[in-house]
Amino acid sequence: MSEIETGAGPDGATLEDLLAGRLPDERGRFGEYGGRFVPETLMPALSLLEIGAREAIADPAFRAAFEGELGDWVGRPTPLTRAIRLSEAWGAEIWLKREDLAHTGAHKINNAIGQALLARRMGARRVIAETGAGQHGVASAAACARLGIPCTVYMGEVDAARQRPNLQRMNLLGAEIVQVTSGDRTLRAAIDEALRDWVSDPEGTYYLLGSAVGPHPYPWLVRELQAVIGREARAGMLEAAACLPDGVVACVGGGSNAIGIFHAFLGDPEVELLGIEAGGSGTGFGEHAATASLGTAGVLHGSRSLLLQDEFGQVRDTHSVSAGLDYPGVGPEHAFLSDIGRIRYGSIGDDEAVAALEECASLEGIIPALESAHALAGAKRLADERPGATLLVGLSGRGDKDLGILDGLREVAGESQ
Ligand SMILES: *Cc1c(COP(=O)(O)O)cnc(C)c1O
Repeated sequence: MSEIETGAGPDGATLEDLLAGRLPDERGRFGEYGGRFVPETLMPALSLLEIGAREAIADPAFRAAFEGELGDWVGRPTPLTRAIRLSEAWGAEIWLKREDLAHTGAHKINNAIGQALLARRMGARRVIAETGAGQHGVASAAACARLGIPCTVYMGEVDAARQRPNLQRMNLLGAEIVQVTSGDRTLRAAIDEALRDWVSDPEGTYYLLGSAVGPHPYPWLVRELQAVIGREARAGMLEAAACLPDGVVACVGGGSNAIGIFHAFLGDPEVELLGIEAGGSGTGFGEHAATASLGTAGVLHGSRSLLLQDEFGQVRDTHSVSAGLDYPGVGPEHAFLSDIGRIRYGSIGDDEAVAALEECASLEGIIPALESAHALAGAKRLADERPGATLLVGLSGRGDKDLGILDGLREVAGESQ
């Protein structure tokens, strides 16, 4: 097998810089991506956060507290499951990293409890978070309940109406929910409101961001907290399969579960890394969320990365059957790794993702989240390209939350009623 050649980005930054810890640089850049594009009023809060986060990550006591919560409360390490019947069906050796078995049903909890511990360490009186479909809101509310920190979750009015069960969960977990009635009344408006709140009290309030996006230091911090997925999976493959996988496949929304599983493999040139975005229903604006594959460079939510924008720089609407992938941006580290060629990005449409979900459910007894089903479908395609290969799939979450959506699709297709 040939080694994967990676080049340098336009400004000369390389994979070696990343692996040696020289990226993000002191301006928070991964090559030409990342940085801090926020109002002056937020700069002090971000600098405080960067100092606090760097100290915490370097402190063995903080790492021990984090690992303790990951073990006793989140339920880590999550299993690595050999998918025997999917392997037969797809003609490759398929292994699943089971983040669906983490507490609250997805990888998001790793980041939420890590940042909640950081908030406590930095002396914050309260935590705020934003949420779209509600998954990150639930994870944040749970982590804050665990540590006894008051939590406020900003959620667009439109999303809140669509996501009753997650609203109930957040209520039970003791979070205050603020329904946002401004702007588009969805995730983008909720982020704006959360930032406004943060500016008004940058020292007493901790902003718990949910993916590997946003201004520096969030993309780096979230990756550090999620990298446990890849460390466990790499060690697990060496132990259970006695080899590294030929390929690792993960779904990419903002990019946190993907960077989390990929990071441990970046320095293994023989391991192909494939990020799968939401192909939605087509390749036109408003039909997909394939940001790394089809996006162009620009600034969104505080950092420079690839995003879906028109020729006037207007951020465009996205579509995906899976709410967690329905985001017009992608984390800056992904944009960099795409540019230098270390990670390949592709997209899977709604129908193909749903088919992979059904196949995984009926052949493995596991109902994956619709987001994770995109990664499974990507692995199926990779198995066609590389018959017999050993493929590790990041199963980012469980699908219970998606049953209503699947019902709706069936009704549209006329299979029921
Ligand atoms: C939120 C979510 C995602 C997408 O978020 P990333 O930050 O890209 O990982 C993927 N899978 C599941 C199950 C999710 O809940």
